[in-house]
This record gives sequence, structure tokens and C-alpha cells, in this order.
Amino acid sequence: MPVESPASTEPLRDALARPLRDLRISVTDRCNFRCTYCMPAEIFGERYTFLARDEILTFEEIERLVAVLVPLGIEKLRITGGEPLLRHNLPQLIRQLRDRTGIQDVALTTNGTLLKRMAGQLRREGLTRMTISLDSLDEDIFHRMNGEKLSVAAVLEGIETAAAAGFAPVKINCVVQKGVNDHTLVDLARHFKGTGHIVRFIEFMDVGTRNGWDMKQVVTGEEIAGLIGAELPIEPEEPNYFGEVARRWRYADGSGEIGIITSVSQPFCGDCTRARLTTDGQLVTCLFATGGTDLRGPLRAGASDDELREIVRAIWTNRHDRYSEERTAILAEEGEGGEREGRVEMYQIGG
Ligand code: SAM
Ligand code: SF4
Ligand code: SF4
Repeated sequence: MPVESPASTEPLRDALARPLRDLRISVTDRCNFRCTYCMPAEIFGERYTFLARDEILTFEEIERLVAVLVPLGIEKLRITGGEPLLRHNLPQLIRQLRDRTGIQDVALTTNGTLLKRMAGQLRREGLTRMTISLDSLDEDIFHRMNGEKLSVAAVLEGIETAAAAGFAPVKINCVVQKGVNDHTLVDLARHFKGTGHIVRFIEFMDVGTRNGWDMKQVVTGEEIAGLIGAELPIEPEEPNYFGEVARRWRYADGSGEIGIITSVSQPFCGDCTRARLTTDGQLVTCLFATGGTDLRGPLRAGASDDELREIVRAIWTNRHDRYSEERTAILAEEGEGGEREGRVEMYQIGG
């Protein structure tokens, strides 16, 4: 281990004084789903070329980069993808990250379908939090949004296995699209009300270039709260911590809570402490970035920990990203689609 100079390990602030706290790590660009809003089947067909094995960061490389970033302020990791459970031996990565980087909080976002055989092992290897995506309990709508191959039952089974393995609460992510699944939100909320699991409704976002996003497809957080509250009375709840992404609402009868992620209608860039590491080792500083900075190249060329840390320090201290706060003005100026050219895709950065 190289000896650190104190000056190189001070916590970082970006150009808007936001610290670097969270790292989302995409461990694969592949997925067994074809969600229309993320990897539409027409584009990600059999001929689509995913990353080759030697382009993907190894577990040792991921662990090294995380260890380099910890002194700069990283406290939380989220493992994502693509579908992270498709990455061979994922529980072993969790164990390495827990044992060798000092990070105490390692979360996973998954579509849940492979959890049945892995949830217990993930828990034993040190995974601390679990988020499972489920857009609707209605099988037809689920197929329409997520692809034909799998079933709602497989995701529900994943959620139950995760809960039985000790993940509590399980968070359930639901992307809301107008005219697609908005009439099924109350059913989803009702299904999990009183179970201790927390459903989080996410406004459909214009991430990437390929999902045909249009403002007219967004159901705002206010509308979502109205739809749920009309049938299951809810009240606003205080955030758990600074920078919490979801706005919390508790059921008035005390039977739990939901979250609403209003990235489009009420952006939260001022609190954004997240960086993202792509499967092939690019560091990306915003969900809506048009590119990242390659860390894999210097890592494989033999850069020292200090040299890698200096690259990240330079990126973060120059970070001005606040796309969601600027979206309305950008769309008014350029029209929908104009600004999206060249953007990083959701499955590369994992949300
Ligand atoms: N495959 C895993 C899953 O679906 O949970 C992890 C990766 S996925 C990219 C992470 C999260 O991003 C999921 O909860 C997904 O629903 C959400 N997501 C993907 N595209 C989105 C979009 N255009 N707008 C809002 N959320 C999106
Ligand atoms: Fe796969 Fe998740 Fe993207 Fe759906 S949202 S296509 S499950 S990576
Ligand atoms: Fe963070 Fe970019 Fe999202 Fe703003 S738009 S909250 S800066 S990821």
C-alpha cells in the first residue's frame, strides 16, 4: 500500500460545493429484461454487441478503484447494471468490497428474477440493502414494459426471498409512465402496504438516447401522490438524511410508507453526491452526462493510487452537473431529443 500524503486525502467538494459520497457501480451491461425505457428490444436484439470480457473491470480492479475513492469521501456503494445478478460470482465481489475497502454500506439494485438462488448468499457476504424493480403487478403491463420473457411471479418470489434472507425493508422501484402503468400504481402500493417493504415511484426520465422519452409520458410526483392518496391516505414524512433521493410519504393509518422520486418535476441536483462507474471503467458524474473519464486505461497502465486519486479529484472539483434543474430551459431551447445525442445509457450507469 502506498503511503498517502494528507493533502491528497481531504474530502472533496465539486464546483457547486457538493461532496462525493456515493458510488454506483455497473458490473455488467447485459440484462435478461428488455425494459422499453432502458434497453428496448428493437435496439438490444440478438445482434447487439455487448462489452467483451477484457473490456469489463475485474473484481480486483473495482475493489482497487473503490479503495482509491474512499479517502475522497465515498461512504456508500450501490451495485447495479444492466442486471447485476448476471455477473458471475457477484457475492464474491460484495465480500471483497466489504472486507477490503472499509465501506459498511453496500446496496444492490436488481430486477429480482435471479434472487431466489442468490439472496441468502448475498446477505451472508455482506450486502446491506436491497432494491428490486417492479413496475406493475399486472402481467400484461409488466410484459409490455419489461419484455415478454419473465413474469411478475418471479419478481415477487425474489422480493419474498430477499425479505426472508433478512433484507428489511426491501425497496421496490416502479418507473411510472403515463398511459402505460399509471392506473396500476394503487394496486402496487396496496399490495406492499403493511409488509414493511417500501415502494418508490420514479418519474420516467430522459436518460440515454434510446427510450423515446417525451415530457407527455411523465406522471409528476404530485400526480402520483394524488393517485395513491385518493385511495390510501398518505402524509408527507421528513427525509431520513441529507441528499435522500426519494420524497417520503407515510400512510395515515401507520401501516408504512412509500417514496416518490421526482427527478423531472422537482429536481434535487443541489444534493447530488453521486458518481457512477461504468462496467468498462469510466467515471461518470451525472445520469445525463454525454461521457465519462476513463479510469481503466490508467489503472491497467500501472497508475499509482495517488495518480488515480488525482484524476478523480480533478474530475470532481470541476463538476458543474445539474441537468435536471436545467432540463426545462434546455428542452425549451433545443426541443425534445436535441440535447440527448451522445448521452450515456441507463444500463451503462445503472440509475
Ligand atoms: N437491472 C436492474 C434493475 O432494473 O433494477 C438495475 C439497473 S436499472 C438501470 C436501475 C433502475 O433504473 C431500475 O429501478 C429502473 O427501473 C430504473 N430506470 C431505468 N431506466 C429508467 C428511466 N428512463 N427513468 C426512470 N428510471 C429508470
Ligand atoms: Fe434491465 Fe434494469 Fe434496464 Fe430493465 S431497467 S432493461 S431490468 S437494466
Ligand atoms: Fe445528479 Fe445529474 Fe441527476 Fe442532477 S441531473 S441529480 S446532477 S445525476
